[in-house]
This record gives sequence, structure tokens and C-alpha cells, in this order.
Amino acid sequence: MESRYAVVHYAEIGLKGRNRGFFEQTLARRIEERLRDVGPALVERLPGRFLVRLPRPIPEALWAERLRTVFGIAYFAPAIPAAKDLHVLTEIVLRHLPSEPVPSFCIRASRADKSFPFTSQEIERHIGAEVQRRTGWRVNLEEPAWVAYIEIATNTALVYFARHRGPGGLPVGVSGKVGLLLSGGIDSPVAGYLMLKRGCEVIPIHFHSGPFGDWVASEAKAAALVRQLQPYGMNPWLYIVPIGEPQRAIVLAAPAPYRLILYRRLMVRVAEALTRREGGRALVTGDSLGQVASQTLESLSVIEDAATMPILRPLIGMDKVEIIERARAIGTYELSIMPGEDCCQFLMPPRVITRPALETVREIEARVRMEELVAQALEQAMRVPASRAAPAPVPDPKGLAP
Ligand code: ATP
Ligand code: MG
Repeated sequence: MESRYAVVHYAEIGLKGRNRGFFEQTLARRIEERLRDVGPALVERLPGRFLVRLPRPIPEALWAERLRTVFGIAYFAPAIPAAKDLHVLTEIVLRHLPSEPVPSFCIRASRADKSFPFTSQEIERHIGAEVQRRTGWRVNLEEPAWVAYIEIATNTALVYFARHRGPGGLPVGVSGKVGLLLSGGIDSPVAGYLMLKRGCEVIPIHFHSGPFGDWVASEAKAAALVRQLQPYGMNPWLYIVPIGEPQRAIVLAAPAPYRLILYRRLMVRVAEALTRREGGRALVTGDSLGQVASQTLESLSVIEDAATMPILRPLIGMDKVEIIERARAIGTYELSIMPGEDCCQFLMPPRVITRPALETVREIEARVRMEELVAQALEQAMRVPASRAAPAPVPDPKGLAP
């Protein structure tokens, strides 16, 4: 079905007073943004729902593609606008009956405009009786095989038949801003997605070993991941921070098993400074407890010691299999498994300590003058539009690359 209109319902639980207005405004803005190229979309606020209006009809599949990624939406439906007239509404329902008989049906009406002369129940009974007269189908209010929905809005009435499930969550922007440590691996894009889902604005921050190693590929991969998450409301630009030189300084001063912990503490400090600059309040990583050596409780606590902001880890209790499932569903998995190392080989330690001692870490940091390395990295940090970064590396299908 092509339609100019869609009804959008959001979950209302916990929405009160001022919060509610902010939530609704933000959600309306996100819907407008997501429909900008087929818009301008007009979002009318009705009690507990929105009516979205486009200048021209678009296919149902396009409505679904767009609104499925707008967090805060519980469900939506492309709708047929109609005059607020019971006779007209009945005609529309009769014209859209399924071509094959159905085992049962029901009519669900709701009335935002209380001045409409019929109650919801009267609308349901009237149209239901007409459908029954025409078809002989059985009414089933609990588990109908087919439903026609009628909504009486302020300026128009709406009829729709198929509800699409929205992504749930909260509209991006209502929960504040966070800095995401985005590596190019499988986990951190999923962590970013989950924070978007809880209503955070997410600033992606990617570190690579430039000027050493293939940092161009690393950068391209991070940008591709950011673009992939754009439909969900991801920030359109990212921070890219080359840390090859500071990493080399760490290699020269630190025992190999300690290097990774020091890289992470460096990243945390730099990410925190950038996040604060953007008005953010927390950092986000893709850590999952026990997945690798740097993700033991001991390592996590030593890394966290370098931060003053909270570090949020939305994947902490998830298994790799669950994370991969989610990465596939949001389309980041295919990008994450492409080549594009963020850390060049000679900087990679052969062994990683699972129980680092904080005292030792602090001693090494004093020796390498960690604050200077942080300042050096911050000087190199660049804000790069996700669209303008180099295109994603093409995977080598035959494995012929050297
Ligand atoms: P991922 O799949 O996200 O790379 P991982 O399982 O490989 O995670 P680590 O490499 O130990 O785990 O990284 C843990 C977390 O540290 C990552 O999820 C990410 O948030 C952050 N991180 C690691 N490397 C980088 C990097 N180069 N740039 C930004 N963040 C990073
Ligand atoms: Mg990684």
C-alpha cells in the first residue's frame, strides 16, 4: 500500500510532565530527520501518538525501512486518511477487505477527538456489523486473524490494517551524550548501537597506529561502521586519533605484557578529554567480561582507574555468539570482519597480562610521561565526517592479496 500518512505510537511508560514533552519533541525531530529526503515530513502530535504526513505517498516498504530504525517508536502503520464520517470509514474498510476469506476479524477504533459523535465502541460495532453482513466472517476480539484499525484524529480520520513493530528504546538525544571507543572490531559498534537505543547521542572515537601500519584501512573501516549506524541516529562524524608515536614510546618503556593496558589507559584519557569537549558525560566500550585478557575484572579496573567519567559497558554480560547475532542484525558484522587493523603488528604485544598491578602501571606511566603522550595524541585528534573518510576496504574474495 502506498501512503502519505503513517500513525506512530510510542511506549508511554514512565513518561510524565516535562519529560514527556521533551521525549515527544525529540522523537518528532528524529522522525523528521529520517524522512528528510522524502519529506518534508509534518509530525502532528495527537494524544499518545503521532500522525506523520508526507508531501507525496511512499510505498509501505519504505515507511517500514525508515521508521524501523527510529528509537522510541513502539509501533507504526502506514494509514489511509479519510473524512471523519462513519459512512466513509465503513466504505474504506469494505474496500480493503482481504480477497480470501479469513477465519475471524475485528475492528479496533480509538477516538482522540472526543467531539466525534460516536464512541469507539459504537464505531467498532457499526463497521463490524457491516463487514459481517458482507462476508459472514466471525468476530474474534481476542485473536482476530484480520484487524482494521480506525483512529479519529483532530483534522482527519485514519484507517490502517497492518501494524509494524518499531525498535523500542528511547529517542536519540533524551539521555545525553557519550563518547564511544570504536575500534573496528565486532563488539564496539554493537555497544554504540545499544547506547543509541537507550537515547544517547553517541560520539565515535577511533584510535589507530598511524603513522605506522595501514591506518588508512583502519580509518575507512571505522567510518564505514559509523555510516552503517547512521539510520539509528549515530553522529555523522567521528574523531580519529593516530597514536602510533605514543604507542612506540610505551613499547620502549614497558614490559610487553603491560603494553596493551597502557594503550587502553591512554585511549581512555584521550577519549575522555574529547568527550568532555563535546559536552558528553560518559565513555562507552565494547568490553565483555572475560572475553580476552584485557577484559578480566582486574584489567578492567586498572583501565578504569585512568578515567574520571563512568565507563559504560553495555555488552559486559553478553556472550560472543549473542554479540555476533546482534552485529549481523544491524549490519555491522560484515564490516567488522573485513581487514583493517587498528594496531600495527610491531606494536602488538606477544603476551597480555591478565592481572596487571596498578602500582607497576603507574610506575611505567611516570617513566613514559603519560600526560605528555596524552597531550600529543589530543593534538593529533581530527573530526572527520563519516561520509568523507576513505571508502571501506573491499574484501579480497579470492584471497589473492599479498
Ligand atoms: P572490539 O570487537 O570492539 O574491538 P575486542 O573484543 O576486540 O572489542 P579489545 O580489542 O580488547 O576487545 O577492546 C576492548 C574495547 O576497547 C573495544 O570494544 C573498544 O571499545 C575499545 N578499543 C579497543 N581498541 C580501540 C581502538 N583502536 N579505537 C577505539 N577504541 C578501541
Ligand atoms: Mg578489538
